[in-house]
Amino acid sequence: MLEARSAVRSLHAYRPPLAGRQGLRLDFNESTIGCSPRVLARLRSLDPDTLARYPEREPIEALVASFLGLDAAQVLLTNGVDEAIHLLCSTYLEPGDEAIIVVPTFAMYAIFAQAEGARLVEVLSGENFAFPLEDLLSRISPRTRLIAIANPNNPTGAVAALEVLLQVARQAPQAAVLVDEAYFEFHGVTLLAPTDRPANLFVARTFSKAYGLAGLRIGILAGNEEQMAMIRRVASPYSVNAVALVALPEALQDQGYVENYVAEVKRGRAVLQRELGAIGLHYWPSHANFVLVRVGPTHAEFAQALRARGILVRNRHSDPGCAGCVRLTLGSEEHTGMLIAALREVVAELSLRPEVKA
Ligand code: PMP
Repeated sequence: MLEARSAVRSLHAYRPPLAGRQGLRLDFNESTIGCSPRVLARLRSLDPDTLARYPEREPIEALVASFLGLDAAQVLLTNGVDEAIHLLCSTYLEPGDEAIIVVPTFAMYAIFAQAEGARLVEVLSGENFAFPLEDLLSRISPRTRLIAIANPNNPTGAVAALEVLLQVARQAPQAAVLVDEAYFEFHGVTLLAPTDRPANLFVARTFSKAYGLAGLRIGILAGNEEQMAMIRRVASPYSVNAVALVALPEALQDQGYVENYVAEVKRGRAVLQRELGAIGLHYWPSHANFVLVRVGPTHAEFAQALRARGILVRNRHSDPGCAGCVRLTLGSEEHTGMLIAALREVVAELSLRPEVKA
């Protein structure tokens, strides 16, 4: 009888709650206003020839590289950061190797690493989700072949200093160290800039968040030229589709659109965090387009009460260190305003205010 590899058989199915997402979507850290109108205009002008051909990634890759101030050989366009993670795992991990992640974090690192038969080494974040540098360094072994770090992290919004991330990369030269900057635009700090990047360091970016293009599936993996050449060997030449490649130059050119949205999100982040403080709900100051909030034992009712008001949020109660926590995505000023209004009602309805509980 046909059987999947044992590494695959022991994986848990990861099913993000995508069904029935009616309402204001503050559950997947997407943009709430969508992409630049220039991208849409370009997509409306698509011709059949563009779709009839196999997509040619390289010219657009060169454009993206120059946008990032890198050489084309250092950059690979991917089918979202998800594919970038998958490629790193298939390029570097042998069965029995170790992959280190800092938890809680984005789910796909564990899935792709374990699918290769690697052993997952989970390092718990420190107090208030601080980056656990000492613990992580102490878990590096000769078998460590991948270290994946989201910076800012999801679902916490916490960040690690660039020097700390460089230290991790230097301490594990035998490992591919991925710094996943999916939320870079909301943080503004990047490891792409330093010119003396260690050869084992990779940086990923995405067009799924600030650029409002999650549905097109476009990401970037950047790293050392020789290492990127190895990764290209396992990558499909066509994993970034023609429609995505047509959209990308327009998306990059309309920086004003992205900057305005990011500015709105950041203003909303400050307002929401102030509001949470005033309500008396514990939250962790975020550097991304979401805020993790500790609601307590009524986390499920809280998410449900928001859903009843047309607002979708993500329950993170089952993530390590996140008991009772819900993650709220920030959107445009208007959308964050709607969230705050609903939040006030829900907090009153569930008697979450400390003074009400007392
Ligand atoms: N990395 C992190 C840290 C994320 O939170 C997400 C999306 N939730 C991704 C990567 C996935 O990005 P993409 O849509 O580019 O695959």
